[in-house]
Amino acid sequence: MSAALHILVRGAVQGVGFRPFVYRLAQTLGLSGWVLNDSDGVTIEIEGDADQVQHFLHQLQHTPPPRAQIDQIEATWHPPHGYTTFQIRPSLPRGMPTTLIPPDTATCPDCLAEMLDPHNRRFGYAFTNCTNCGPRFSIIAALPYDRPNTTMRAFVLCPACGAEYGDPVDRRFHAQPNACPVCGPRLAFDVVGEAQSPTTPPLNAALTALRQGQIVALKGIGGYQLLVDPRNAEAVARLRLRKHRPAKPLALMARDLEQAAALVQIDQVAAELLTSVAAPIVLLPRIPHPSIALADLVAPGHPYLGVMLPCSPLHHLLLRSFDGPLVATSGNLSDEPICIDDTEAHQRLGQIADAFLSHNRPIERHVDDSVVQVVAGIPRMLRRARGYAPLPVPLPATPPSTLALGGQLKNSIALSIGPQVFISQHIGDLHTLEARSAFERVIHDFLRLYAAQPSLIAHDLHPDYASSQMAHTSTLLPDARRVAVQHHHAHFAACLAEHAAPGPALGVIWDGTGYGVDATIWGGEFLFGDVAASQRVAYLRPFTLPGGEAAVREPARVALALLWETLGPACLEQEDLAPLAHFNPTQRSLLLRMLQHGLNSPHTSSAGRLFDGVAALLGLHLQVSFEGQAAIALEHLADPHESLAYPFALEATTAPAQSAGGVTCVPNPIILDWRPAISALLADLRRGVAPQQIAARFHNGLISAICALARHIGVATIALSGGCFQNRHLAEGVIRQLQAAHHHPLLPRHLPVNDGGLCYGQVAAMLSTTN
Ligand SMILES: [Zn+2]
Ligand SMILES: [Zn+2]
Repeated sequence: MSAALHILVRGAVQGVGFRPFVYRLAQTLGLSGWVLNDSDGVTIEIEGDADQVQHFLHQLQHTPPPRAQIDQIEATWHPPHGYTTFQIRPSLPRGMPTTLIPPDTATCPDCLAEMLDPHNRRFGYAFTNCTNCGPRFSIIAALPYDRPNTTMRAFVLCPACGAEYGDPVDRRFHAQPNACPVCGPRLAFDVVGEAQSPTTPPLNAALTALRQGQIVALKGIGGYQLLVDPRNAEAVARLRLRKHRPAKPLALMARDLEQAAALVQIDQVAAELLTSVAAPIVLLPRIPHPSIALADLVAPGHPYLGVMLPCSPLHHLLLRSFDGPLVATSGNLSDEPICIDDTEAHQRLGQIADAFLSHNRPIERHVDDSVVQVVAGIPRMLRRARGYAPLPVPLPATPPSTLALGGQLKNSIALSIGPQVFISQHIGDLHTLEARSAFERVIHDFLRLYAAQPSLIAHDLHPDYASSQMAHTSTLLPDARRVAVQHHHAHFAACLAEHAAPGPALGVIWDGTGYGVDATIWGGEFLFGDVAASQRVAYLRPFTLPGGEAAVREPARVALALLWETLGPACLEQEDLAPLAHFNPTQRSLLLRMLQHGLNSPHTSSAGRLFDGVAALLGLHLQVSFEGQAAIALEHLADPHESLAYPFALEATTAPAQSAGGVTCVPNPIILDWRPAISALLADLRRGVAPQQIAARFHNGLISAICALARHIGVATIALSGGCFQNRHLAEGVIRQLQAAHHHPLLPRHLPVNDGGLCYGQVAAMLSTTN
């Protein structure tokens, strides 16, 4: 019996080999009809034997191409039209370009097999790709996604590649970056300070340089990376010195899962992440006695390593010939954005790298390597870029079209179109001129790519953030209304929206710094409400930061402030404590005067600073070279088997009623007082309790305090967000205890729990706003 179906497939189904897949499936099943791309996704007319049509629908649902992301399939039966063939029809002109721009994806197994086959015409070719894999976001200059709109426009397809491109049953049908050694991009190698390139093939020259302990700048997918042999201590030290990165761990690239397993513990979740098409850096626990001896300086004192697998053919070729893993860190100086332009890279990285392995395929925009960690058994984004950006994250409803500019640190921006929020790649800290111009580039890039005219600009409440200042430049969308969103409310709204949780909920929003409604620095906040608005119902007992920003760089100052609040002037008697011993008598009395009179000592309720201060009390990091360094050390120190917890007190207080950026301060908030915990910690120090136990008791105390507050507020849904919840010990402990008490804890997954997720929360906060 003959039957016909009209099928509409929605989701990320363009630029992922969907039409060739449909074509081949129809051919195999002897069905006729057509398939085409339109602004809704992919539309299919399929007809023939009823059983085969049914089978077609089943295959479509259950075995789509690996990179396709189907959101919805609508299928309607109707009488057959009498088609005799199956055709791929030309795309229908689009209305608004809601079509998803695909992210860059790692080399597929078919392409890898071809590159490694000596009889294949792509043997050893570093730019092999197909519709299932390869660069996308990093090469797309404009929509629609056609070769002339990519950085492949200068490369003319050779007859063999052209034939693949035009053949509906070929894996490379309409593969826009299709290339081969005859017609595609080529590698180049040059040594810094030498005008002439060596005559050896570029890949071999780079391998030799790496084996000799040199630093090689590699032009990767979304920017330059710096490579070095992680077993060569002297070489790693040289990289750190030249890159001005004394301590922050360096990421590693391993040849395959087997080599990665020689460094870190890989369970099922981790293996799936590492081998996923996004191929992110995954933070994983080191194995106790690794067969590969890494230099200590790769990740000094860290029980975790950031590891990724090759994400491009070039990386595969390098790792397959290099006998061991490689450090693969971003090609930048300290916290600047990664280099994408060849000339700029030679200027900025020429002081760091000994040699360059580059090529002539331009990079359209910077896309860093993504970083993911597994918390409570679920992958959680820490830095969202290559492999994920610019895929949208949906909202539970449709806000007015909004451009959200994010925060100051770990910045990213967001643009809403309908209920979808397109999130930019990680941009970084907006402290440098380079970062701020990258930030501006991304804003204009997004508005242009998606042809968007948002009616709202959402930004942080902090008047001094570069992103807030950008919101108020008159040339940016002059007709759009500007709306400020309080920092911690944005974190709260992001967590709720990602989980489509309607609220009311309690948000436990803990981080380092965010501008509060009362113009002080917040960071240990308990917010009650929903995505649109919340009340500050409780917060950590505020303390002062002697020297302000200086205290962020020097946790010993924070420790001194905690001691001052707990003991008063008697704190000076604790001379043998590391933070006191750290300062000479003159410095000590100066700091004490600052604390006494509140001179240059801003108030804060920051949980991040509390962690810093406690770490310093244990002598972990009296000074830090990157944000979170002391707190991370405290987390890693904590003994997971310790069950005792330090006491925290909940106390009622009064506060002036004020509101801004979606947050209202209630007149009778609760103070979470940490002083009893500090007293208990000091007593433990005096008794000689092991620092591992002290660190754990502090964590356990905070976990119990959060649960006590949740019980007091008496609401089921608890949203956990803010940079402090990157801390696994804290996050997993809170989730466990809240679940045991029948609460419903939520922790962000697809967006960073840190400030990288703020932009999405700023859009979510607009859900109840009208234009
Ligand atoms: Zn492929
Ligand atoms: Zn070719």
